[in-house]
Amino acid sequence: MKLTNPATEEVFTEVAAVSPADIHAAVEAAQHAWESGWRNLAPGKRAEILFNIARVLREHREELAQLECANIGKPIGDARDEIGLGARVFEYYAGAIGQFCGQTIPVARGGFDFTLREPLGVVAAIVPWNFPFPIACWKAAPALAAGNCVVLKPASLSPLTALRLGELASAAGLPPGVLQVLPGPGAALGDALVTHPLVRKISFTGSTDVGRRIMELAARDLKRVSLELGGKSPNIVFADADWQRAADTSPMNVFANTGQDCCARSRVFVERAVFEPFVERFVAATKQLIVGDPTLDATQLGPLVSASQRASVEDFLEDARSCGTKFACGGSRFGVPPSSGRGVLPPKGGTPNRGFYLEPTVLLDVDKTTRCWREEIFGPVVCVVPFDDEAQMLRDVNASPYGLSGSIWTNNLSRALRVSRAVQSGVLSVNSHSSVHVEAPFGGYKQSGLGRDLGMAAMEGYTELKNVYVAE
Ligand code: NAD
Repeated sequence: MKLTNPATEEVFTEVAAVSPADIHAAVEAAQHAWESGWRNLAPGKRAEILFNIARVLREHREELAQLECANIGKPIGDARDEIGLGARVFEYYAGAIGQFCGQTIPVARGGFDFTLREPLGVVAAIVPWNFPFPIACWKAAPALAAGNCVVLKPASLSPLTALRLGELASAAGLPPGVLQVLPGPGAALGDALVTHPLVRKISFTGSTDVGRRIMELAARDLKRVSLELGGKSPNIVFADADWQRAADTSPMNVFANTGQDCCARSRVFVERAVFEPFVERFVAATKQLIVGDPTLDATQLGPLVSASQRASVEDFLEDARSCGTKFACGGSRFGVPPSSGRGVLPPKGGTPNRGFYLEPTVLLDVDKTTRCWREEIFGPVVCVVPFDDEAQMLRDVNASPYGLSGSIWTNNLSRALRVSRAVQSGVLSVNSHSSVHVEAPFGGYKQSGLGRDLGMAAMEGYTELKNVYVAE
């Protein structure tokens, strides 16, 4: 597989793609590693290895960040943060091993009843290209901590940091076969992995369509699945909030990672009383974003991941134009200088006009039947609409088939609690944009998926719950 740097449009390396036969061999090796050692390794030893992995990842943080930056055009500052996040995930689950326990239950008939959390065996982890490293870590770490072996398939666009994770984990003391990384196209390899009889769980992050297919295949032999899928998340701003802070900070809440973020708050609902000043400030903040060369520390937004991803976002923009949607800013590819914003910094030593860049785009007067309003765009595009009535706004928020994340801005505590309960999303934040906490469960309602990553909930998801009753 040829890998193209999205900021320069140059092929910079090639990676071999595995075959379905390699998948079979890997799953069998994983089963062997599980039965012959990892399953019964003392918890303290398992924790030691996971702590070691975290340490080695931190030692290689710069190298991994540079790989991610070149591979998917991720701004280097964000890439460094994401490597740190991955290391932190290994540390958290290393620490969790010693606290992961069952219960004793006072059953009615007396005797002694207790539960055991037992590993499943071989887990297939399938991850997307937008956050390749952290998502690989937040699947591998809890699965390994719970005593499973993992076959990890990165997205074909972004295999590099996952491959390094496999090598570094092995250097940190993880026995052979316990974590294997197999790059290649999902369409060709997915079925072999998902239907292999020794795979006991598929932990998937990616699009809703692929998630649906995985669930159908897994249903045949009732494999466990967890699915983290698409989103179309709301950002709800009430007039009583610090709406100025919301306006200043919300652009990064949708445009970070160039909008290629399942948690992107891509539908902004603003109470009518502050709608106009909010939009003015939000657009001004959007124009301040530094879009450009991802290798530079100052850059906030890089290019889209590929030419086809940019073309897909441009289709949405074309549809918006044909429906008469108002563009408050953005909507075009970058030339030099860009038509809005603080500018494209030319890639170091590269040609300024290269790269799959698209301006951050703010849409107003959005008809709620249009594609931009209803579908996940996965690019730097946001719809901002006013609302008058809380109940009607909540109906619009919840009309989406997705339910991943969302933000609520208000200084009224009762309203914050009431609206938090009413929004059908798995991850919400009040007066903040924060979606991901290593210690807290992360996942979606409705077609945003099922099961949870992160927190103790994820570790539980990589186990079976056994009940043992001992008669007196
Ligand atoms: P994708 O579904 O195309 O691919 C995800 C992974 O699945 C890749 O590794 C791919 O190779 C593999 N795959 C593709 N076809 C497959 C098949 N038939 N069987 C098995 N595996 C297959 O998604 P993507 O384009 O890489 O990522 C973007 C999507 O991921 C967006 O919809 C985004 O919202 C979602 N996402 C969700 C979360 C979350 O936590 N909810 C996080 C990141 C991304």
